Amino acid sequence: MSAYTVTPSRCHIDLAALRRNFFRLGNPASIMPVIKSDAYGHGLLPVARALDQAGARRFAVGTVDEGMALREAGLGQRIVPLLGAVSPQDWRTAAALDLTPLLTDFEDIEKAAACCPANRPLHVAVKCETGMNRLGFSADDLPALLESLRRFPHMTPVLALSHLSCADMPEEAAYTQAQIRLFADMCATLREAFPDMARSLGNSPAVLGLPETRYEVCRPGLALYGGNAFSGTGRETLGADLEWVMSVSAPILRVRRIKAGQSVSYGRAFVASCDATVAVVAAGYATGLARNLSNRTDLLINGRRVPQVGRVCMGMVMADVSALANVRAGDTAWILGGPAAPGQRPITAQEMADKLDTIPYEILCQMGSANPRVYS
Ligand SMILES: *Cc1c(COP(=O)(O)O)cnc(C)c1O
Repeated sequence: MSAYTVTPSRCHIDLAALRRNFFRLGNPASIMPVIKSDAYGHGLLPVARALDQAGARRFAVGTVDEGMALREAGLGQRIVPLLGAVSPQDWRTAAALDLTPLLTDFEDIEKAAACCPANRPLHVAVKCETGMNRLGFSADDLPALLESLRRFPHMTPVLALSHLSCADMPEEAAYTQAQIRLFADMCATLREAFPDMARSLGNSPAVLGLPETRYEVCRPGLALYGGNAFSGTGRETLGADLEWVMSVSAPILRVRRIKAGQSVSYGRAFVASCDATVAVVAAGYATGLARNLSNRTDLLINGRRVPQVGRVCMGMVMADVSALANVRAGDTAWILGGPAAPGQRPITAQEMADKLDTIPYEILCQMGSANPRVYS
């Protein structure tokens, strides 16, 4: 964040809820929390510190840079940057700071070998390709991989990982099972040569729904932040007790009366059908509230849901508060979450994502990176 703020809206991060989610996901000793992309918009360091206090023994970050930030914050856990080491500098940093870089192809082996520290082994993680077709060695590559690793005794593979592409989709169960079998076979081959290698497969939906994918190390991300990957499917109850960690608030700038027939905001996309009271709220697409939600979302004001009206602007958005008594400038509107009155539901990232035909991950990343964050 820069020295000035561009919005009075705030992203609230409830670290106690984060820790409760962490404990809900089973044995903490086997969890490698995924905190890439600034912890899905929740803030890398506060999230890592909270999970460190909760007993996290390792972290999966995105970039080597994120790993460096954890080391500079004094965190000594195993750290795996999931994007791999991208530049020569990344490899040097990973080796110097005892991060656990990914080997994703044969070129990586040479690069890793070139920066092994003199006085201790370089720990590496082997990325296995089982069906995502993104990064990693395929099963056919394993003999050559093992041959290469034998040439570099200072390099110690400590972790084998692969990623499931549709563990959240009950209709793709057969594909997921094939990925699980392939990973098990690849791990068996790798562990003949390196018996101490830990295995890591399960993401959030797998941690909730496929306990056999936990192995020594599982890698939930979304579930830690309260998202239920099974939302809208027949397996929804599996993640029903997770709590959202992020909420987003913005002050009401002005409350105005409008007459029937008057329109609100750009393009006259909302025209009042009767006299109405409209609250002007300091949030907009620059603060992560997608313009495609214009006239389609709700806001929570004084504990109650009210419809958002008119086009979402860059830094302002309007709500029809005619049904509420006593709304005043300075009151708080909740874009996501917030305290709901009895019988009222807060707006969730899942609900917004469903309306936008996207996933809650995207909502959290956008809201979290566009609003100043406050922690409790
Ligand atoms: C992002 C990511 C995860 C976590 O996925 P969730 O669905 O958020 O649990 C796990 N592994 C890899 C390789 C990832 O990129």
